Amino acid sequence: TRFEQLGLDAGLLGAIRTAGYTKPTPIQAQALPAALSGRDVLGIAKTGSGKTAAFVLPMVVHILDQPELERGEGPIAVIVAPTRELAEQIHKEARKFGKPGGVRACAAFGGLSKLDQFRELKAGCEVAVCTPGRMIDLVKMKACTCRRVTFLVFDEADRMFDMGFEPQVRSILGQTRPDRQTLLFSATMPGKVERLVRDALTTPVRVTV
Ligand code: AMP
Repeated sequence: TRFEQLGLDAGLLGAIRTAGYTKPTPIQAQALPAALSGRDVLGIAKTGSGKTAAFVLPMVVHILDQPELERGEGPIAVIVAPTRELAEQIHKEARKFGKPGGVRACAAFGGLSKLDQFRELKAGCEVAVCTPGRMIDLVKMKACTCRRVTFLVFDEADRMFDMGFEPQVRSILGQTRPDRQTLLFSATMPGKVERLVRDALTTPVRVTV
């Protein structure tokens, strides 16, 4: 598979080239066609596999496909990650690939000012990259709602559950739209993660690297 075969627009292909990605990694080669076709994806992959771009690129396409983007209605896509370090990396990737199409990615994770994040979310964005606890806090503060979310990603789901975030993860899931597209990535598949897959994903394409 080549990036040029995926039907991506010129802006995205340019951003991929600028990033220095010449060829999809194995997880990208398998997950991108499924995710770009609108299917739910279960990706069993570790950090270093290129899994971030495997969900960020379809996310940008999903957002650009929306007929109308309005300000201040809350994100269309939410990416949930276990740690601030991982969320930071995802946020960078989301900005890199979102920028050409004018897709705004907000940060909703620890280590940065909650008030700044509140203001940024309130001003409007299409993407929120978050850790579970901070996202719930910001929703409670009414920075945004998840009512417009039609693209949801859980990254490193096994780690999120190890860290005790299952209630927050389930709460975020319950606030999004039932007709959403959902992608879940995990390095391992313990029972709890299998149950989340059953509850959150609809006939997912299962990709293992
Ligand atoms: P990830 O597993 O998403 O954290 O990605 C691991 C590293 O691989 C990151 O530094 C990415 O920028 C890089 N990367 C992701 N996809 C590609 C690709 N197709 N070609 C080259 N590098 C990539």
